[in-house]
Amino acid sequence: MIRFQIRALVTAALLLAAPAVYAQAKLKTKKVIFVMTDGLRWQEVFQGADAGLLNKEAGAVTDVEGLKKEYWRESGGERRKTLMPFFWSVIAGQGQIYGNKEAGSEAYVTNGKNFSYPGYNEIFTGWGDPRVDSNAKRYNQNVTVLEWLHAKPAYKGKVAAFGAWDTFPWILNAPRAGFPVNAGYDAFEMKPMTPTVALLNQLKAEAPRDVAGESHDFFPFHTAMEYMRTKKPSVLYLSLGETDHWAHAGNYTEYLRAAHRVDEYLKRIWEAAQKDPAYRGVTTLVVGVDHGRGEAPVTWKSHGEKLPQAKYVWMAYLGPDTKALGERKNIPAVTQSQVAATISALLGEDYNAAEPKAGKPISDVVGR
Ligand SMILES: [Zn+2]
Repeated sequence: MIRFQIRALVTAALLLAAPAVYAQAKLKTKKVIFVMTDGLRWQEVFQGADAGLLNKEAGAVTDVEGLKKEYWRESGGERRKTLMPFFWSVIAGQGQIYGNKEAGSEAYVTNGKNFSYPGYNEIFTGWGDPRVDSNAKRYNQNVTVLEWLHAKPAYKGKVAAFGAWDTFPWILNAPRAGFPVNAGYDAFEMKPMTPTVALLNQLKAEAPRDVAGESHDFFPFHTAMEYMRTKKPSVLYLSLGETDHWAHAGNYTEYLRAAHRVDEYLKRIWEAAQKDPAYRGVTTLVVGVDHGRGEAPVTWKSHGEKLPQAKYVWMAYLGPDTKALGERKNIPAVTQSQVAATISALLGEDYNAAEPKAGKPISDVVGR
């Protein structure tokens, strides 16, 4: 009898403990690769090339027929797959995509500013800070989720950020955060130096500075890839900028090509992760933007407080803890402010406990 009672007590205790044990055991993510591309509109992501911009007048397209061959298809489904084939095959097939406003899935920034620094601050801290009201190179007073993770012993020396925009060392407060933040045309002082990074540094030094404040996307992409290959960071951040640059320039041809290249980069990063035993099966890819933009024929070039529609963004998740629900439709809205806590939750860390102002994790992303 006594023995039976003890056994019953032990069983009850195990049952009580089970949910917590299960919740921890079921998360497989050990590494996060977080890629952003500045200001790529949800319109192109979900509909592909925009008919209103594929012309001389609104999109300054010089070879309309040629660009149509590249990116125009009659159906929206075909168009978006032509523009972003990896996104609409692998991520749509195995992950989740948020932000198709026309399918009842809204994703938006909450900072009210709809431009870059406020957007990056929101995505990295989990809340829109009204003090962040310009793109000026000021060190972020807020601690980002990357800095917060890096302060934990498990992530010390295992966080790195690479960006096209030279303002990232300020946004991420690199001197205080203590992890590598390589941006713009700055040489990356990697130890030990590899021939690839040495060549990239040399090319950066020689490249024409044709875009003020940022490099072309191939520099941060290839530097990040080499860092991933050699250092195997747990949290790798890559920020691309050409989608925003070409839109501001009104050049729809190069804007579409930049978006297509982003997709190619996502594919190469994901494939590299699947080939690498340090990453395979334990890596979640997170993709997002810092703000949306206006519409064809004119305001697509721009974004900001005066364009309320530029608050709409999109985001995507692909990894072992995220159910393959594909393109989300008819669901409650998600916000930019939820991304920091979602990334942390994927890694089994509770960011909301440290930053109560932060949005909560997106439950469907962490829900497998
Ligand atoms: Zn931006």
